[in-house]
This record gives sequence, structure tokens and C-alpha cells, in this order.
Amino acid sequence: MKFSWRTVVLWSLPALVIGFFLWQGAFAPSVANMGSNTASTRMSYGRFLDYLQADRVTSVDLYDGGRTAIVEAVDPELDNRVQRLRVDLPANSPDLVSRLREADISFDTHPPRNEGAIWGVLGNLIFPILLIVGLFFLFRRSSNVPGGPGQAMNFGKSKARFSMEAKTGVLFDDVAGVDEAKEELQEVVTFLKKPERFTAVGARIPKGVLLVGPPGTGKTLLAKAIAGEAGVPFFSISGSEFVEMFVGVGASRVRDLFKKAKENAPCIIFIDEIDAVGRQRGAGIGGGNDEREQTLNQLLTEMDGFEGNTGIIIIAATNRPDVLDSALLRPGRFDRQVGVDAPDIKGRLSILEVHARNKKLSNEVSLDAIARRTPGFTGADLANLLNEAAILTARRRKEAITMPEIDDAVDRVVAGMEGTPLIDGKSKRLIAYHEVGHAIVGTLVKDHDPVQKVTLIPRGQARGLTWFMPSEDQGLISRAQILARITGALGGRAAEKVIFGDAEVTTGAGNDLQQVTGMARQMVTRYGMSDLGPMSLETQQSEVFLGRDLMTRSEYSDEIASRIDAQVRTIVEHCYEEACHMMRDHRVVIDRLVDLLIEKETIDGDEFRQIVAEYAEVPEKERYVPMI
Ligand code: ADP
Ligand code: MG
Ligand code: ZN
Repeated sequence: MKFSWRTVVLWSLPALVIGFFLWQGAFAPSVANMGSNTASTRMSYGRFLDYLQADRVTSVDLYDGGRTAIVEAVDPELDNRVQRLRVDLPANSPDLVSRLREADISFDTHPPRNEGAIWGVLGNLIFPILLIVGLFFLFRRSSNVPGGPGQAMNFGKSKARFSMEAKTGVLFDDVAGVDEAKEELQEVVTFLKKPERFTAVGARIPKGVLLVGPPGTGKTLLAKAIAGEAGVPFFSISGSEFVEMFVGVGASRVRDLFKKAKENAPCIIFIDEIDAVGRQRGAGIGGGNDEREQTLNQLLTEMDGFEGNTGIIIIAATNRPDVLDSALLRPGRFDRQVGVDAPDIKGRLSILEVHARNKKLSNEVSLDAIARRTPGFTGADLANLLNEAAILTARRRKEAITMPEIDDAVDRVVAGMEGTPLIDGKSKRLIAYHEVGHAIVGTLVKDHDPVQKVTLIPRGQARGLTWFMPSEDQGLISRAQILARITGALGGRAAEKVIFGDAEVTTGAGNDLQQVTGMARQMVTRYGMSDLGPMSLETQQSEVFLGRDLMTRSEYSDEIASRIDAQVRTIVEHCYEEACHMMRDHRVVIDRLVDLLIEKETIDGDEFRQIVAEYAEVPEKERYVPMI
């Protein structure tokens, strides 16, 4: 558990309350107790002495160490009735006992009723005891974490927040498909291993390297591999862990991290998600920026604070280099940027080879085929894919992973878990038409990616799915390709409308329409693919919380805005018309495909194309890669 004063306060509140009740409960009886066999009527001391004089007292019981007496006296006026009266005695009345003896009055002393008193004392003590015990445990627990005792008081210095690995055990061989990055980072390893080589000729060893790339491409892995290759300790912390509720905590964490690192130099400091703390200063929206800025300033100070040749190299990772504060990117800080991108087909193959090392694959499995099937997959996706396949293999009690497991695993990684099959009925029929609608457009339009398979087995959120083989070259997309995609995405709704009529269309097309609108809008505002001409009308990132671009977003007039809307609508309407046409023109083959789909649940791309080819001309797809 993390220690903070808030915790202490939270813990001691119940203790306070409990303590108060115990105190009330235990202390009060010690007063009330004594009176259990006493008279409630009181008599003054002077009166008591008078009674003694008058010989009216018959017996005296002394309580409370001689400070209180219960006196039995007779009242001659009332028929000698016995009265019990309570008398408070003065603290010092040593002669009282002798006087009682003289008068031959029976008297007795009673020891103080100790049970009550003990409980009273305990009751008073319980509260502080509880508090002390509670605090003791809290302190002990918080000083169990590395960093030694006594740190509970320095609550900002929670040293457990960064981790240190003396040996990462990761080597460059474990990272595949990012050869350029590896080459550049090889140099960093040399800096750490043989700094003399550089310092001898007066070179300043860089302090920071920024790894830039989408999530899952192996940035963390690369940083660990550098430490592993150089044989130095690896300190890591995530940028989001700097950003704390208390102002100043993040900054003190940075200080701690660098202090520890200096003690262990040469070493690597790895800061993941540096954009969480290193965002452009003074541009944030809402509160909490003071903290982030202080942390960032501390980070900059620390980076300037040590000499370049102390053997500490800071590696930071981000997928948003554009939002980073320019001060971070200045020479002397993260002046080197290394891109780590999603792998291409060759990269995917070598990543698969790395992760297949410890898996049992049957001979028929071709890693090459998997690599070809998985454009856009990152290293993390591929690792996950092989692991899912291994899990499926174990579940099916097979000896080794075979191609069907791989196929299922790809589907699962892309679209989520398989759901229960639909029951036959109208809605299954409608979904079948919807999917065949997508697939038929995908098959007949030349610029559309080819169909890989159509299935009615639900997965994730989708109730039916049409899979397309994406092209390898994901970089540049032509206008014709985007239009083909829009038409294809509208194919589902078009089929619903043409076959079942306007009244029967369903919500199933919601996702499709969202994508369609997005693509059409980008054609107009980003790629200059409409009659508005080659103009960029929107900045790339419109997420408000990034702060930086907030003020510069709408750069165009209302008139342009309505023209954008009109263009978007024209594109979408045109594509929708085309899709509807296609449904009407190919009604016969569509009906046949739907019957087959309902019967078989899945039709693969080749079979689909063959059937369509019996009725219409199927264009050759340029980048068509047959599945193995
Ligand atoms: P990032 O930090 O870029 O988000 P990670 O380094 O955390 O990605 O990658 C997560 C996991 O994915 C790694 O532990 C590794 O198993 C796998 N992985 C990612 N990229 C690669 C790669 N290039 N080569 C081998 N494995 C990779
Ligand atoms: Mg990572
Ligand atoms: Zn759809």
C-alpha cells in the first residue's frame, strides 16, 4: 500500500470515533458504580458531625479511600426510622476514625471499586493505544517497500513507483522487424559499453533517445534490449505515473529516479508514455497543469544537471511526438529520435519467427502465409496471435498448432471472441443479405480489396462479418479506392433496402455508416478529393484534450462549412446509388449466395468469386495475393 497522510487521516477517523465511545462507556460507570448501594440523599459534613454528636449515627461505611461515607442514622422525630445518607468527607479527617470508635459506632471501609476504575482508566487509554498501534502498522507497512525505513514521512518520495531491473535478459535478437531502429540503437549500446572510445576524441555522448511509434511495436522491448546488450541496469517509469494528485510529487519522483540512477551508473532510464508529462506547456485545458509543468521542468533540470558522460542514457517512448514540448527535443535532451513503425511483411515474418521459437508448430504451418495475412499487425498483435493459437490448440487437445487454429486466432485478434451462432429466422436472413451486400460490392468493384470470407458467425460486436484481404501497401490510397470502400461499406444497407424495402432496414448498418461518413469527410477536408479543390480544411488532430491545436481548429467560414457538408453528402449519395444498383442488377446471384451462406455459415473468398463469376464478370484484382 502506498503511504500518504490522507491514509493516516482516514484510518484515524474511525479510531477517534471508536475511542470516544469506549471512553464514554468505560469512564462513565466508574462514577456511577459506587452509588449502587448508596442512598441518593446527601448530607453535609457539618450535619454529619451534628448527628454524631447527637448519637444518632448507627453505622458508617467509608468508600472511595475515605472520601465518601454512607451513613446510617436514626431519626427520633420519625419514630427512629433508619435513614441512609451520603456524606462527602473532607480529604483530611484523620480524627474521624477515632471519633467513630469513641462513639462505638460500627464502621467499615470499602476499598475503591477497582473494576470500575480499571475500566475507566483502560477506556481512557484505549483510544490513544488504538491510534498508536494503527500508526505503528501503517509506518511499518510503508517502510517495508524498498527504500528503507523512515521514508513514510517523506510522502512525496514514494520510491516504489519506478522499477529497476538489474538484468533485463532481453537481447536484440528478441526484437525483430525493426532493423533500422536496431541499427541506430546499437550505437547506444556502444556508448554504454565503451564510452572512452567517444570521449577520447571529444565527442559528447547523447543523453536522450526518443522512440517514436504506435503502441505494441516493441519500444519497451527495444529499450530493455539495449540494457540487456550493454549489461546495465534498467530503470523504468511511465509518464502517467509522474502525474499525481499532489503538486510536487511528480517532480520529487523525477529527482528520486535520477538520484538512484546516478548511484547505479552506467544504466538506462526508460520513460514510457512521455507525452503524459512532456506535453507542450501552457496549452492544457482544465486544472492539474501546474503539477505536470513542475514535473516536466524537473525532468529538464535533471537532464541538464548531469554531465553527458556519466553513463546514464535516457530512453523515452511515445506515439505522439507532435505534442511534445519543444524544450524536450532540444539538443542535449532527447536529441535523437528513432522511429519504430508497424512492421512490413518481412518484419512480420521475422517477428513470427521470434515468437514461434518456443511454440510447437506443425509442419504444414507456414509463417510466411501468416505474415501475408496480417498487414497492419504490430509485434504485440503477432505475439498475441501465436499465443491465442497455442491456447486454442491446447483446448482442442492437439499436439501442435495447425493452420485452422491460426485462422481462428487471427479472427479473434481482429474481431474479438466468437459468439453463439444465430438461430435460423428472419433476422439471420437479413444479416446474410447485409453481408452478401458488402461482399458482392467488394467482388465486383475493381478497386476494392478482395473478399477473404463471408461469415454469419458473430464475433465481438458484429453479428455477421465480411473479411477483406487488405493490401500490403497501406501507405497511399487512391481516390478510386476510397470511393470503392465507401460503396462497399454501404453495400450492406443497400442490400437491406433493395431486398426488404425502406421500412425494414435495420440498425445493423450503424457502424458502416459511421465509417462511410468519416471517409467521405476526410476526402473533402483532408485529401482534397472533392470539387472544393486541393485544400486541407481541417487539422489532423481534432482531439480537444491535446490542447495544442485547440485555438486553430476552424479555419474556414460558415459558408465553406456548408459546402463541405454538401460535398460529403454528394459523395455518399452517389456511392449509395451505385451500391443499390448493384443489388438490383445481381439479385439472382445474391439470392443464391444468401441461401448458401445460411446453409454453410461461412463462404470463403474463392468460392464466393467462383459463384459470382457464373453470373457476372469479376474483375482481376491487381494486388490479389492468394491464400496458401
Ligand atoms: P510498445 O512498448 O511499443 O507498446 P512493447 O515493447 O511493450 O510495445 O511490446 C509488447 C510485446 O509485443 C513485447 O513484449 C513482445 O512480446 C511483442 N513485440 C512487440 N514488438 C516486437 C518486435 N519488434 N519483435 C518481437 N516481439 C515484439
Ligand atoms: Mg510499451
Ligand atoms: Zn455491415
